[in-house]
Amino acid sequence: MSIQVIISKCKGCGLCVKVCPFSAITMENKLAIIDKDKCTLCGACVEKCNFAAIEIERKDTGKTEDFNTYRGIGVIVEVINEKLNSASLEMLGAAVCLNEKLKDKVIAFVAGKNCKQFVNTLFEYGADKVVLYENDGLQYLNDEIFSEIYQLMIKNHKPEIVLTAATAYGRAVAPRVAVMLRTGLTADCTELEIDIEKRELKQTRPAFGGNIMATIVCPNHRPQMATVRAKVMKKIEPRSGIQGELIIENYNFSDFQSGMKVLRSEYDTSSKVNITEADIIVAGGRGMNSPDSFKMLEELANLLNGAVGASRAAVDAGWIDYSHQVGQTGKTVQPKIYIACGISGAIQHLAGMKSSDYIIAINKDKNAPIFSVADIGIVGDVFEIIPELIKNLKK
Ligand SMILES: Cc1cc2nc3c(=O)[nH]c(=O)nc-3n(C[C@H](O)[C@H](O)[C@H](O)COP(=O)(O)OP(=O)(O)OC[C@H]3O[C@@H](n4cnc5c(N)ncnc54)[C@H](O)[C@@H]3O)c2cc1C
Repeated sequence: MSIQVIISKCKGCGLCVKVCPFSAITMENKLAIIDKDKCTLCGACVEKCNFAAIEIERKDTGKTEDFNTYRGIGVIVEVINEKLNSASLEMLGAAVCLNEKLKDKVIAFVAGKNCKQFVNTLFEYGADKVVLYENDGLQYLNDEIFSEIYQLMIKNHKPEIVLTAATAYGRAVAPRVAVMLRTGLTADCTELEIDIEKRELKQTRPAFGGNIMATIVCPNHRPQMATVRAKVMKKIEPRSGIQGELIIENYNFSDFQSGMKVLRSEYDTSSKVNITEADIIVAGGRGMNSPDSFKMLEELANLLNGAVGASRAAVDAGWIDYSHQVGQTGKTVQPKIYIACGISGAIQHLAGMKSSDYIIAINKDKNAPIFSVADIGIVGDVFEIIPELIKNLKK
């Protein structure tokens, strides 16, 4: 793709300069000049120009091969240090949902040390087929080696979609696999849908700093690859005892080359709170008014055996530490109960909590957007309702 200004048409009005999100356009002698190092070819200037003076030339590469040879929804499963990451089960849940339309197979791709022990769990959580490669050399994350293995599995079994949880592991492995397979990858999706006519995966994620939600498709390449943050999708209810097809791959481990040698692996235990693990979260926003009133939320959370969360407004005001922030630039949570106190429900906050099982919202504005996702909405003053709740719980 390339972009150019048609000199004979440019009137030097400057609209393109204002609309460019990347400050890639300047005006020189009433002519738009595009800095091609800064330009991302987003097309905002082309749409805005009233004189059709900017053109993007797109070379249609067309479909790269016969897509009918690709079938099924694949999930890259994370097993590190002989532990299965439950975010992979959420991805299986997402695959099962998408498969309601595609009506094909859900395939779990799993590589790791002693990962065979998880095969039944993968069947129970939605996999129809498990493709597995076990080796003691796969105890820790080495993204070069894991990517090699997954691209071989995917080339062999040809799923039309591949999902990966956007954990540190998924973020390291999925882009490498996508490059090896010469396909696209949409990172950190918040919603996935199928366009059944075109068999396309509609991948929605925040764009332009979270100010818009963009839906991205991958029309010319297969598989269609996406990562999704943990706690955005839901696991299915386990289908106890169900069996599927198990395929064991026999690769020669010494064929996998890496310039990296993992010496040891350590967990970061410095984080003070882990709201992503809590079953109940009591979260406060700007409506709490001061750091002192967060003590009231802490008391309520303690009584419920839960944790305290917060909106970015409360964190930015310095009322509570960033480790409590829920949302697009904070943590994504999926507790059994989420109690939102004095939180308006901005899209960036909802992105981090709307998959909670049961949402209770307390807000004095009956039109607050948080009520659109709430199972119970209480229109009222947090300073009256929360003390009342605490009093009753203590009884
Ligand atoms: C790129 C980007 C990323 C962002 N990331 C995040 C993120 O990760 N998390 C996040 O939360 N936000 C994020 N934001 C900010 C987000 O857009 C909102 O500004 C923020 O969520 C607002 O926080 P709030 O709901 O606490 O405050 P407000 O929107 O000010 O809402 C306060 C609410 O409290 C209610 N209220 C006031 N007093 C009372 C009372 N006494 N009793 C009951 N209700 C009362 C009001 O009616 C109001 O609805 C992001 C924004 C951008 C642009």
